Amino acid sequence: MAHLNGSSNGTNGVDGNSRPAGSYTLQSLPKSNVFTSNLPPDPAFPTPAKSHSAPRETLGPRLVKEALYTFVRPEPTQEPELLAVSSRALQDIGLKEEEAQSEEFKEVVAGNKILTWDEKTNAEEGGIYPWAQCYGGYQFGQWAGQLGDGRAISLFETTNEKTGTRYEIQLKGAGKTPYSRFADGKAVLRSSIREFVVSEYLNAIGIPTTRALSLTHCKGSKVFRERMEPGAIVARFAQSWIRFGTFDLARMRGDRKLLRELADYTAEHVYGGWDKLPSKVPSGDPKSKHSSTFTGIPKDTVEGEGLEQENRYTRLYRAILRRNAETVAKWQAYGFMNGVLNTDNTSILGLSIDFGPFAFLDTFDPTYTPNHDDHMLRYSYRNQPTIIWWNLVRLGEALGELMGAGSNVDDAVFISDGVKEEDADELVKRAEGIIENCGEEYKAVFLSHYKELMTARLGLTSQKESDFEELFSELLDFLEAHELDFHHAFRKLSYFTLSELETEQSRKDVAGRFFRFNEAPAQDAESRSRIARWLEKWAARVKEDNPNDEERQKAMLAVNPKFVPRSWVLDEVIDRVEKKGERDILPAIMKLNLDPFNENWGWNESEEERFCGDVPKYKGMMQCSCSS
Ligand code: AMP
Ligand code: MG
Repeated sequence: MAHLNGSSNGTNGVDGNSRPAGSYTLQSLPKSNVFTSNLPPDPAFPTPAKSHSAPRETLGPRLVKEALYTFVRPEPTQEPELLAVSSRALQDIGLKEEEAQSEEFKEVVAGNKILTWDEKTNAEEGGIYPWAQCYGGYQFGQWAGQLGDGRAISLFETTNEKTGTRYEIQLKGAGKTPYSRFADGKAVLRSSIREFVVSEYLNAIGIPTTRALSLTHCKGSKVFRERMEPGAIVARFAQSWIRFGTFDLARMRGDRKLLRELADYTAEHVYGGWDKLPSKVPSGDPKSKHSSTFTGIPKDTVEGEGLEQENRYTRLYRAILRRNAETVAKWQAYGFMNGVLNTDNTSILGLSIDFGPFAFLDTFDPTYTPNHDDHMLRYSYRNQPTIIWWNLVRLGEALGELMGAGSNVDDAVFISDGVKEEDADELVKRAEGIIENCGEEYKAVFLSHYKELMTARLGLTSQKESDFEELFSELLDFLEAHELDFHHAFRKLSYFTLSELETEQSRKDVAGRFFRFNEAPAQDAESRSRIARWLEKWAARVKEDNPNDEERQKAMLAVNPKFVPRSWVLDEVIDRVEKKGERDILPAIMKLNLDPFNENWGWNESEEERFCGDVPKYKGMMQCSCSS
C-alpha cells in the first residue's frame, strides 16, 4: 500500500529541498490511531480516559498480559530547549518549515502537551491518546521476557497526503511507562544526539530506518548513568514500531489469540493488505539464478517438499524476511553496524531501529563490533547477516503454528483450540520445511541486494559472476590488510579516470590516494603494488562496462557519500553541545548529514573537510557501552 512507499525516499544525491514543503501545523495535521484502535489495550487501563485520570504512580512498571500496549501520558519536562529539528523530517511528515519555531511545537515534542486530548471533549471514552507498546525479546541470544517501550511513548499517527506514508510519532526519553522495569524512562543527551543524527543520515543514503524529527534538551532534568548527565527527548517516527520481539512475547506466553491478531494487523495495516504480500514465484521462471536481472528469489523457493500448502502467514513471513535481508545488505555495503541486534531491536518492516552503540566502520575490519560489552562479537560487522537470520528463525518459530497449519489455518477448531494431537507432527514438519526453505530465500535476497549496491558503488552498471571475488572481495581484503579507510576508498575511487590507470607505474602512483593524507602505510611498496593490481582489474571491467569517465564519476558520487557520521564526529559534536554549550554545531552538521553526497555545503570549508577527512589519531573504531 501507498504508506510503505516513502520508506527510504531514495534521496541519493538529490537535494532535499526539491520535495514539496509541507503545509500543516502540528495542530492541523490529520491524525489517526490505527494501532490502538485495532489492537487490544492493557486491561488495567482499557480506555484513554481511565489512563488519563489514573495517578502517575499507578502507571509504573509491571507485567502486562493479553495486550499490545498501554495508554500512558508523557511526564512533563521542565525548561525544554529545542536543540535541532530535521528539515527533511518536517517535509516528510508534511509540516510547514516555520512550525518548528512555534511554542506549540516545542511543547509537544517535549511531552508537555497532548494535542489530541482535551479534558472536556474527550470525556467520552474514545479518541487518540498516547501509548507505549508491549513487547519482549531475545537479548544476546537469551530470552529476556517482557521488555516494551520503557521510555518511548507514541503520540499519534499521521499520513502524509502527498506520499501516502503513515507515520507513528513517538517521544523517546519521555518518562516511565509500565514497561520501564527497573529504569527511569529517560534518555541522556549524548545518545539522543547520536540517534537524531544517524536516523536522518541512514534515510539520506537510502537505508530503511526509523526517523528523527527533533531533539530536545531537558534542561531541568538530570539523569544518572555512570554519572549525572543532561537528559533529552528525541521525537522520532516510523511507519511501524512493531518488532520481532512483539511476536516473541506472545509466543513465549503461549498467547495464540494475540499472535494471530498481531500477524493479521501486521499484514493488513503495516504491509498494506494480504494481497500486497509476495505470492509464489511462477515455477516456469525463465531467468537463471544468476542473471543480472535476478530478483533474488531462487526458482526452487516454493517448490520444496511440503510447500504446496504455503498459506498467507508464510507470505507474510517472506515479506518480512525480504525487507530485513535488504536492509542488512545495505548495512554491509555501507559499513554500518547497529551494535545490539536483539530481537526487540529488529523491525517487522526491516527498518534500522533503536540506535544504541551503533557505528560506521572506519578502517575495514570485519570482526569489529561497536558494542563495548559484546565480548563474543555477536553483533560485529561480519555477523550481522547471520544474526538477522537468527532473529528471523525466532520469528519463524512464533509464526510456525500459523504457517505450519497450511490450508487448515482458518478452520474454526484450529483457531480456537490449536492443532489436533494427531496432526501436530505434520504441522511441525511443514513449519520447519518452510523456515528452512525461507533461509535460502533470505540468502538469495541478501546477496542480490548486496551485489547490486557494491556494483553501483564501484561505478559499474552491469554485474558479472567474477566481480564478487575479483573486485568486491579483493578490495575489502586489501583495505583490511593495509588498514585503509572503508568510506574514503569508495569516494576516492569515484574521482579516478581511466587514463590515469593505463600503465603499471601510473597505477602505482595513484594507488597512494587510498592512503591517509600525507601518510603512507608501513608497507608502502607492497600496498601500492596490491592496490595497483586491483586497479588494473577494475579499469578493465569499467572499460567494458561504460568507459565514459564523466558519467561514471557522476553516478559514483551519488552513491558514495563524502560525509559519514562516524563515532569520532558524533563524539566531537556531543562534546561541543554538552560541555562547551555550542548551539550552532548541530545544525551545521545536519547540513552535511542530510546531503552527504555533496562536495561542499557552504558552511565552513575547512571544518567541512575536517569532518569528512581522515579519522584523527586514536579516534578510530571506538566502542560504546549500552548505557544510554
Ligand atoms: P534498548 O537496549 O534501548 O533497546 O532497551 C532495551 C529495553 O530496555 C527496552 O524495553 C527499553 O524500553 C528499556 N529501557 C532502556 N533504557 C531505559 C530507561 N532508561 N528507562 C526505561 N526503560 C529503558
Ligand atoms: Mg530496544
